[in-house]
Amino acid sequence: MKNLSLLLIVIFIFSCKSNQKPDEDIKTLAVNKDYFISENIIGEITEQKVSLKGVETLCYVIKTNSQATEHKMGPWCPRHIEDGKEKGGIWFENGKVYDVSGHFIAELDKFYKDEKWKLYRDNDSIKVTDTKKGCLGAAKPNVEEEYKNHCVECLPEYFKDQITTFVIPVKPEYQNSSQKFGRGGIGIAFNGVKFDPPAPTHAILAAHTIAPLDDHGGHVNPHGGYHYHAVTGSTKEIEQTDTHAPIIGYAIDGFGIYGLLDKDKKEATDLDECGGHIDSARGYHYHAGEPGSNQIIKCLRGKPGYISIEE
Ligand SMILES: [Zn+2]
Ligand SMILES: [Zn+2]
Repeated sequence: MKNLSLLLIVIFIFSCKSNQKPDEDIKTLAVNKDYFISENIIGEITEQKVSLKGVETLCYVIKTNSQATEHKMGPWCPRHIEDGKEKGGIWFENGKVYDVSGHFIAELDKFYKDEKWKLYRDNDSIKVTDTKKGCLGAAKPNVEEEYKNHCVECLPEYFKDQITTFVIPVKPEYQNSSQKFGRGGIGIAFNGVKFDPPAPTHAILAAHTIAPLDDHGGHVNPHGGYHYHAVTGSTKEIEQTDTHAPIIGYAIDGFGIYGLLDKDKKEATDLDECGGHIDSARGYHYHAGEPGSNQIIKCLRGKPGYISIEE
């Protein structure tokens, strides 16, 4: 009888523990602010106590103009249906990446099996939103009528003075349940460029527009400027001492985002619904998805900080 009650007490303690949030048994690595490229950061990275979900949490505050420096930004839209793939960026459909050449633009009606697609004029030039006005009229959910059937391209210089502020917990807190993210950013690369949730392809395609990414997985919108929807290995990476994939940035909850492939070109096979897993060296962390997946990570495991944009 005594043994049974002891057992019940032990079970009770364990069941309480598994309901605890955050889960303190999961190893977590603190954010390393030295990984960021200092020239891309406005001022210094500061530490600030911020209320997250009602709890005072020590966070790093990182301000950037969300502009890449270690690679060229663009090109996005080719200008003529004879243009080769070097004149355009990439597009994705059903997990596959396609080069946006002039030919690809010309064949969109066949690609999407919808004859309403026609992004080129009778002289074979391609209709591109090549002004800031065009960008503002097209890079939004309700595409203005005159910019339907266009290749949508916004230039980084239109929004280069916007300041994006990332507030990220210094020490991530693993939570037992995952959390979806909204339309805001989901993290930051070491060059200070924002990682975004999936591009809203449904709204884009419904207007017979495409908004190609450049070969580095980024494009520009009026809310924060240049941002990534795909990880293609173009940005600063920090090699690991073992065979694990390099770290390429941080999610907004403070957990590291690592590349897709390890040094043996293998993918992790035990990722959870967010695209993360745990190992002894790094604790919980994410791996970026395939470039064609339109998804860098799928949800958040940690208590998120937030991103704000001064337009
Ligand atoms: Zn986007
Ligand atoms: Zn891993």
